[in-house]
Amino acid sequence: MTLPQPSEPKPNTSHNDAGHAVPRLLIVDDQASVHHAFREVFAARTRNLDLEADEAILFGDNASSASQNTSCPQDPAPRLDFAFQGEEAIDWVNTLADTGTRYDLAFVDMRMPPGINGEETIRRLWETDPDLHIVCCTAYSDDDLSEVMQRLGRPDQLVLLKKPFDPAEARQLTAALVEKHDLRNQARLHVVHLEATNRELKNQIKRRGEAEARLRYQASHDTLTGLYNREAFDQHLARCFETAQCNPDYHFAVLYIDLDNFKVVNDTLGHTAGDRLLSTVGKRLQDSLRPSDSVAKTAGNIAARLGGDEFVVLLDGLSHPDDAAAVADRLLTTVSGPNRINGLDLQIQISIGVAACDHHCTHHDDVLCHADLAMYRAKENGKNNRAVFDDEMHAKHHERINLLSDLQTAIDTHAINVVYQPIIDLHSGNMVAAEALARWDRPGHGPVSPATFIPVAEQSGLIVPLGDAVLRIACQQLIAWRRNASPNIPKAVSVNVALRQFLQRDFVDKLADLLAEFDIQPNELRIELTESTVMDQTVDIQRILHAVRHLGIQIYLDDFGTGYSSLSTLHKFPIDVLKIDQSFMRAVETDPRHAAIVKTITDLAHHLEAAVVIEGVEDIAQANSVIRWGCDYAQGFHYSRPQPASAYGLDQSPINRAA
Ligand code: C2E
Ligand code: CA
Ligand code: CA
Repeated sequence: MTLPQPSEPKPNTSHNDAGHAVPRLLIVDDQASVHHAFREVFAARTRNLDLEADEAILFGDNASSASQNTSCPQDPAPRLDFAFQGEEAIDWVNTLADTGTRYDLAFVDMRMPPGINGEETIRRLWETDPDLHIVCCTAYSDDDLSEVMQRLGRPDQLVLLKKPFDPAEARQLTAALVEKHDLRNQARLHVVHLEATNRELKNQIKRRGEAEARLRYQASHDTLTGLYNREAFDQHLARCFETAQCNPDYHFAVLYIDLDNFKVVNDTLGHTAGDRLLSTVGKRLQDSLRPSDSVAKTAGNIAARLGGDEFVVLLDGLSHPDDAAAVADRLLTTVSGPNRINGLDLQIQISIGVAACDHHCTHHDDVLCHADLAMYRAKENGKNNRAVFDDEMHAKHHERINLLSDLQTAIDTHAINVVYQPIIDLHSGNMVAAEALARWDRPGHGPVSPATFIPVAEQSGLIVPLGDAVLRIACQQLIAWRRNASPNIPKAVSVNVALRQFLQRDFVDKLADLLAEFDIQPNELRIELTESTVMDQTVDIQRILHAVRHLGIQIYLDDFGTGYSSLSTLHKFPIDVLKIDQSFMRAVETDPRHAAIVKTITDLAHHLEAAVVIEGVEDIAQANSVIRWGCDYAQGFHYSRPQPASAYGLDQSPINRAA
């Protein structure tokens, strides 16, 4: 810690050759002989001085013996300044004060005609140096000075000495008063230091307090909008929930707000424009929640940004839970509206999910979750809209939670089954591989369609253990089939892999481990990735694709034609086979021109040295068509529905051979 230098009183003393501090005295007397006498008293006190003549004035008859007896060779001789008149003494003190030093002691005669007397002199000396110690010298013949002393005050700084005085007494008095003055100065220096330290400590405490307040603010606020952040919101929400548990008359609600089409702004106008849009929304929300505003008057209402384009509002202390919807309606008008960004008038639109804390909520998170679900309903209902969480949404939500729980159990207990659907070589009519498809017989509910449980698994992350389980079962099945000599055995399996599964850091290692563990040749295993997985631009899909290819495992691009892939970027990806989605087969039924599209896609795939599987071939007519269009492989109910593994290798083949 560095302390500022205080404006400390400079020591009055310089030092002599021996290093002793030299006191500085001022002698104020109108008689030169007195000056001389003082000089002698404080000069070489070890010498045998002939002081009688002068000292007699001051000290009377026993002067010289006293001066010898009290000699003190260690004490430095003081430095003396002399004044004949009070005014002159004041000049001395002023001059010294200008240099920042002070006298240790002044001897002041009481009568100094023709100038000001001792009393006035002392008073004026104290005006310049209030700490000055003064010995007031009077003759024995002078009147009683007690009244003067009383008038002057400061009894601790003023000593009376009657002339003639003993030299030893004078020196002792001087030594004592100089020491006292010195100690007083030191004490004052300490006080100055302590005060400076104290000031600095106070400053530090203040600065630390400010820094802590800043940190607290940063920890609880979103930097972009200045609104509360997720953590702070969570704390507020938890407090409201606690209050609601204790007080049935207390109501609160959460509004979950999501910007409509924010991604479009971010993608087309850039992140800076996106940030400005978010700031505007934050400000409008904040303004709408001021107690002075009519939208939501309670001071406890807060707005927060959870991240991205998601905002929340906590309506604290509603008179009735239904009031929350009215607040949402008002926010739709106050927050939505035009906003000029990059010279463009952008229309801000929001979707709001409304959820009050009700008997369905067992934890404060539930209120937020309900508001989130309601927000999705608002989006489904056409955006720029609000939806209130209701019993029907609650039932659906509950069902989803139960479904996830049952699905988790099914994965843990190996209750997920896999069926296989043949992929037919259209040139030979032979089965070249089979696609592995997950099946789940949910206890108490019967078979659940993958179209139902796969999306739920994808959203929740359960798709990772589920997909890994299917991969493993398919590999096990492949080697089990090897022991069967029948020609109706798939020689390879093709397994669907979801984006989240594909993005696991160790996905490629897992594939390699499976090949090694089951002693499978890489060309016996294929993975199917949907078009949207491959086109996902947020991560380095290409790198993983190449790593899979490097293992020798073929990559199928699934559901081709349903996503947004641009044909021009297709060549960038290491794709072996393009699976044309079954919706094209359906479309040809209604509009024969779709046949041309399938043919074009097939030609394009061939140019890119990829083969084509056409999905959804359901009858002989379609089977003949796909051969004509130049497709290489086909899959569909016409050849076989997905079958359990046990159906393969039997004499009765599951495959209706291609025409
Ligand atoms: P997909 O990968 O496109 O699988 C083909 C789907 O088309 C299968 O539906 C299959 O039964 C059906 N299908 C086959 N031929 C025909 C036909 O001629 N006509 C009609 N109408 N449908 C046909 P499924 O088994 O219900 O699977 C649905 C989707 O679930 C799959 O579509 C796939 O995306 C997903 N899925 C299934 N198992 C898994 C899995 O283990 N992992 C992942 N990630 N997804 C899976
Ligand atoms: Ca597939
Ligand atoms: Ca497909």
